[in-house]
Amino acid sequence: LVSRKKKPEDTIIEINGEKFGDGNQHFIFGPCAVESYEQVASVAAEIKKKGLNLIRGGAFKPRTSPYDFQGLGFEGLKILKQVGEEYGLAVVSEIVNPAHIEQALDYIDVIQIGARNMQNFELLKAAGETNKPVLLKRGMSATISDFINAAEYINSRGNGQIILCERGIRTYEKATRNTLDITAVPILKQETHLPVMVDVTHSTGRRDLLLPAAKAALAIGADGVMAEVHPDPAVALSDSAQQMDFDMFESFMNELLKK
Ligand code: PEP
Ligand code: MN
Repeated sequence: LVSRKKKPEDTIIEINGEKFGDGNQHFIFGPCAVESYEQVASVAAEIKKKGLNLIRGGAFKPRTSPYDFQGLGFEGLKILKQVGEEYGLAVVSEIVNPAHIEQALDYIDVIQIGARNMQNFELLKAAGETNKPVLLKRGMSATISDFINAAEYINSRGNGQIILCERGIRTYEKATRNTLDITAVPILKQETHLPVMVDVTHSTGRRDLLLPAAKAALAIGADGVMAEVHPDPAVALSDSAQQMDFDMFESFMNELLKK
């Protein structure tokens, strides 16, 4: 169903006035994790200033260590919904448990399925039974074919509103947190008719690489870029090394959009 051979024209997914897949560039910013109302609202104000229409934030955080901050759960989703309504932003948030999908639909506009859950087939099927757009991230050890099959799982249950997100894969290279597989973008665009985003935060894990990685993503044909923004990254409860503060966010966007 997701194959370009079956459907030659691009799928366009409309979210809060933006049409992912229409050939324009789209952006999803927000903190790694929802920490408080004030934190999310301050990021929302910066996003709004730039004329953007979506915000991301993790409420259920799939952390590598069980002792790291696990997220605020449904309390976090409530904060996102409130901020989304106040600032007119669509909310993107990761759901990790298929049993939470139905309840989460009351709070979020886009269901994110994270790298660690790309082959959680019950979660994929549950997201496929909704009518919300799904932001599907590539698993850290997934081949492009595995990734496309994960999207197929969602579509096979009826939901074709899928945005693919390359977020880097695990290789032997230690200079970056993951290795951004930049050519996955044109390959995914050739093989499927779905919009393709690049997450420059989790692929690089390095603040100094966010801008060049984002430029590369757009140059190679990505439909958009995702990155993390936090009012004070130094005290962030997760991903403190790679989130942008507001000054950096400002120059990131200015540089990225410079012709
Ligand atoms: C995230 O986007 O919040 C996240 C945890 O990313 P990934 O699933 O790609 O690691
Ligand atoms: Mn993060």
